Amino acid sequence: MVEGVPSNAAAAGSGPAGGARDPRKLREVRIYDTLQEKVVPLNPLVPPRVGMFVCGLTPYKPSHIGHARTFVFFDVVARFLRHLGYRVFYVQNSTDIDDKIIRISNEEKVDFFEVSERNFRLYLLNMEALGVRSVNLYARTTDYIPEIVTQIRQLTDKGFGYTVEGGDVFFEIAKFPKFGALSKQKVESVQPGARVEVDARKRSPEDFALWKSAKPQEPWWESPWGRGRPGWHIEDTAITVNVLGPRYDLHGGGSELRFPHHEAEIAQAESATGLSPLAALWMHAGLLNMRGEKMSKSLGNVEPLDETLRKWNPAVLRYFLLSGLYRSPLEYAGTESLQEAERSFETLAAPFRRLNELWSDLARANDQGSRGPELPKEVMTRSRATEERIIGALAEDFQLREATRQLFGWGKEVNSLLAKSEGYSTEALDVLLAPYELADQVLGFFSIDEAPGRGVPVAPSDISSLVELVLAARQRARARGDFAEADRLRADLGEAGVLVEDTPKGPKWKRKEG
Ligand SMILES: [Zn+2]
Repeated sequence: MVEGVPSNAAAAGSGPAGGARDPRKLREVRIYDTLQEKVVPLNPLVPPRVGMFVCGLTPYKPSHIGHARTFVFFDVVARFLRHLGYRVFYVQNSTDIDDKIIRISNEEKVDFFEVSERNFRLYLLNMEALGVRSVNLYARTTDYIPEIVTQIRQLTDKGFGYTVEGGDVFFEIAKFPKFGALSKQKVESVQPGARVEVDARKRSPEDFALWKSAKPQEPWWESPWGRGRPGWHIEDTAITVNVLGPRYDLHGGGSELRFPHHEAEIAQAESATGLSPLAALWMHAGLLNMRGEKMSKSLGNVEPLDETLRKWNPAVLRYFLLSGLYRSPLEYAGTESLQEAERSFETLAAPFRRLNELWSDLARANDQGSRGPELPKEVMTRSRATEERIIGALAEDFQLREATRQLFGWGKEVNSLLAKSEGYSTEALDVLLAPYELADQVLGFFSIDEAPGRGVPVAPSDISSLVELVLAARQRARARGDFAEADRLRADLGEAGVLVEDTPKGPKWKRKEG
């Protein structure tokens, strides 16, 4: 290694290479914790493992580019920690049952699961296009009903939850004095009527639903309190307690979820398990503002992600989404913002592409380029120093802008070297490529397909969309009482090798064995 410059593997204490599997040698990462309101070191409960949970989508409609900001950012968090040698298990939930999903499924006269699954799969395609590959487990709410019921039972057994006439179960906020500690908000600021129903059966208006009894035209599951479905907050803690344990390392989400959602999570989990804290670190990503306003479906200024991806290189979009301070709102002015990001991204990516071309030229000619000019020693030093500064910027609360600035600086150096000669050896090219390759691993905006239109459904290569079309037609037939037609469609699917099973969550299907 080069003298005086800590490579990320040695003097600085960590790195992907030597010693990365030894938890004592992992590089320290410092993160702003919303609860403590300061930057603190990440201290995994069981190093080098990091249990990470991020609140996912409620897929009642296609996701929008505001969601993408959150999920692209947390992708970088997981990538970076893994790069340093942490063994991250990253869980994201999908709220595949909720009021809005039910409303739309009733409007469309289809099963709720069809609505949520359609939007969720589109979301996965969009994420794939954006290079989001770090999630280990996407957990759908309706796959965790028994765990949810168990956790609600623990809460009622311990006196934190109470049942009312009609079969709803509520969490009694008065029993959890810490409620509001994360967001520094007062319980009274839970707005009745906004995501919290006015309900005379509650002991206090701020109490939130753990279990909702089924109304007519609503999907339901059996429970000790009768037929119903989970409240909004309980899925997260039922999932994490079962997948990551009663306490884990890192909880992330969009900043709008701090209150009351994340407060409710803390109240539920800590009351149910008796252990605290639920998460050692709470990270919140800032919102995406559309010309000064929060992008939200209710404000009607939403830009669906698949539309953006049809028009723009996903690498440019990813670059734009990672361009600000992650905790602050990011201003988005539509086309103007992405045009600007595109120009900037081109400047950033051009030397990287040229280096790769030169490397390929040598590889094609089966030549190591050893007759080319030698790289000055200080260039090698600066290559390592650039890598170190990128890692340093990210290890100090994910300073994305500083990491990218380092890469721009390196690009200038590479451009001036290439202006003098393009005849470097593969070994020299590797030195010049190193900071880009590091950035690509952790920020991930080079190695994604650069053609617009990727990640949006065009020609599905598997049969699932077709099967779902037939199942949707079958649901419509059932809804209008034409059970003969519904049975015929099911039989047709059977002949085509697709077995359909009706479950309380709606029809599920699989291919026949053999
Ligand atoms: Zn959540």
